[in-house]
Amino acid sequence: MSDCIFCKIAAGEIPSRKAYEDETVLAFYDLDPQAPTHVLVIPKAHIPSAAAITTENSAMVAHIFEVIAKVADELGLKEGFRVVSNCGVSAGQSVPHLHFHLLGGRDFTWPPG
Ligand code: AMP
Repeated sequence: MSDCIFCKIAAGEIPSRKAYEDETVLAFYDLDPQAPTHVLVIPKAHIPSAAAITTENSAMVAHIFEVIAKVADELGLKEGFRVVSNCGVSAGQSVPHLHFHLLGGRDFTWPPG
């Protein structure tokens, strides 16, 4: 999508600090980290949110979770980590391109705020 900031990051039109990249997935550091490690993992193809995951694109989501496990291991998150995908306005989604927050390096409370 031409006006989507994460599509522009995926295309290299907006710079990012990359943690992982392959043909279909990009992981990059969040500009406003909420934990000592805060990486965003996105599909390069535009999917608006978790509400748009379907049989047609769910293999991509499975691949994203493989990437999350790999990046978490490479970044040394051995004590644990949290994966969050905010979906929709009331959940606080601010960028309408599917993304998974990979957060680690501190303890997390439950339930989330
Ligand atoms: P959400 O609010 O769940 O939609 O998450 C969007 C995330 O994208 C926020 O944590 C922002 O800090 C992050 N973000 C927005 N623009 C950029 C950018 N250009 N580079 C890295 N992270 C960004």
